[in-house]
Amino acid sequence: MSEFSWRTRRDSLEKFSEETFDILIIGGGITGAGIALDASARGLRVALVEKRDFASGTSSRSTKLIHGGLRYLEHFDFALVREGLRERAILLQIAPQLVKPFPFVIPIYRNARRNYDHPLKMRAGLLLYDLLAGRYSFGSHRRLSYDQVLKLAPHLDTQGLKGAFLYYDALTDDSRLVIEVIKAAYERSASIANYTRAIGFIKDAEGQVAGAHLRDELTGNEIAARSRVVINATGVWMNDIIGLDRQSGKQMSKSVRPSKGIHLTVSADRLQISSAWLIPSLRSHRFYFVVPWEGRVNIGTTDNDYAGDLDSPRAEKDEVGEILGAINSYFPSAELEPSDVISSWAGLRPLISESNAKKTTDVSRKEELYESTHGLISISGGKLTTYRLMAERAVDLAARRLSKRFGIVSGDVDTNNIALSGSLMTREQLGKVAQRLVENEKLTTETADHLVYAYGSNYQQLIEFMHKDEQLREPLVEGLPHLRAEVVHAARSEMALTLADVLARRTRLAMLAGDGSLRCAPVAADLMGRELGWSDDEVKRQIAQFTTEYEREYVTEEKTEQTEITEQTEKS
Ligand SMILES: Cc1cc2nc3c(=O)[nH]c(=O)nc-3n(C[C@H](O)[C@H](O)[C@H](O)COP(=O)(O)OP(=O)(O)OC[C@H]3O[C@@H](n4cnc5c(N)ncnc54)[C@H](O)[C@@H]3O)c2cc1C
Repeated sequence: MSEFSWRTRRDSLEKFSEETFDILIIGGGITGAGIALDASARGLRVALVEKRDFASGTSSRSTKLIHGGLRYLEHFDFALVREGLRERAILLQIAPQLVKPFPFVIPIYRNARRNYDHPLKMRAGLLLYDLLAGRYSFGSHRRLSYDQVLKLAPHLDTQGLKGAFLYYDALTDDSRLVIEVIKAAYERSASIANYTRAIGFIKDAEGQVAGAHLRDELTGNEIAARSRVVINATGVWMNDIIGLDRQSGKQMSKSVRPSKGIHLTVSADRLQISSAWLIPSLRSHRFYFVVPWEGRVNIGTTDNDYAGDLDSPRAEKDEVGEILGAINSYFPSAELEPSDVISSWAGLRPLISESNAKKTTDVSRKEELYESTHGLISISGGKLTTYRLMAERAVDLAARRLSKRFGIVSGDVDTNNIALSGSLMTREQLGKVAQRLVENEKLTTETADHLVYAYGSNYQQLIEFMHKDEQLREPLVEGLPHLRAEVVHAARSEMALTLADVLARRTRLAMLAGDGSLRCAPVAADLMGRELGWSDDEVKRQIAQFTTEYEREYVTEEKTEQTEITEQTEKS
């Protein structure tokens, strides 16, 4: 993989002002990334801009499941479930390092209130899930006995426990998935820049959208980027972008209705689970996922209408209490308390809804694709899992417009055959590579596994960095497998421009290490500074900026209050 760094971004910004693109995509979450890859693979001239960092919106804050969505069966959304299950299998092929098939368990209790549903209905649902997966199945569901359940979760409450159902889905790292899709688009000549905000539209003589006015968020410079088609892939910000095209006569009948979901990351040793669990809330008709992830456990999520600041939603005290209460009622001996929460984070679902009557949980997860009278194409809704299909549908619509208005005919492409960046080996091959790294590079099993499954075949670049500079073998946070070499890689090959890009979205240390990410910030900032030519003052500014972002987005309100009280007490 060639360089994908601040220099690449500088070149992209130059191209934005000089060239006319076929498609300009606004938004660098999974939806925009997928569109960039699909369109550039069709041979179109593609530009993508992201106002903050790639995946800094919803696409770094999901439950990280690649799934059909068992729950959607309740709404008889069979087509949606089948679509998700098929995409799950395709993603395992095109990004094997990032899609990990994983067992999920649903406990069955005598007390009906503690059950996800009636056991017969659960069995029917799982049977249907298997049938809908068909030849894309990861393995059929099965019933587990009381003893088998306890082997999988020794701390599970046994009072009234009868057994469980086990089925299969998959886990991913959402923001790493976005960066690998973005890089695959760049490898096919897309011009891409993060920290570049769309602030208005350029219109042609017929009043049709013909590009966008952009602002470089790092310098404040403004650029006019010309493009035959513009696609709005801004998730929960979709209405803002449609607002910039405000002279449009016909408005969307539907709009984005943000729904907030929070997660907690806790230490794995408190729960000691080797599969993911679905546990129903005792207070409402919802359930929580308890998911082992990267050596920790993520627990979530909530699903509530949200009217606050779209840029930095955070987990509130009562939401954290609600989730901890639910977990403790199923895993009582874990006795989780707010102080056990390593990090907490909130994401906003870009649900598309016509009415406010339904609960957010009842709003379909299907995407909505819309073309304004001025030709602006907007796409939102959907899921991380189905990004590839969403992209295909958006680019099909853009291609029709390009052909009708400009006579540009794009090539045919099937993105289900395009490997993402770093996706040149199967999971089995990657496993063997990891074993070799343990032997040849004297890495621990955890570090070797982490390097190959986070970076796929791009792991080699990190090994090269370590050969040149032994210090890069050092861990960033004690007890976690992340190495200093990853900071260098993020700056050179993943367009990381700020310390927060590296610690929150390329390595995920803000989630996984919590306050540990603050402790490694000076070392990481120093390494970044060498790559990006930062002055000492800039290094300090970056650490301060990351600290602010971390405290705003990964720490519960309660913990911030406690820290403030402690600081005040210490001063007085
Ligand atoms: C709590 C939660 C759990 C979820 N769990 C799952 C799951 O397990 N599996 C699954 O498949 N799906 C899941 N989803 C859904 C999935 O995460 C989302 O559907 C998906 O991430 C949305 O991606 P997006 O690219 O449309 O939006 P985003 O990721 O939000 O991207 C939009 C981007 O547009 C940028 N932008 C906004 N305005 C501008 C502008 N003016 N100029 C330039 N850029 C701009 C933003 O900065 C942002 O990065 C979950 C969602 C939530 C909230």
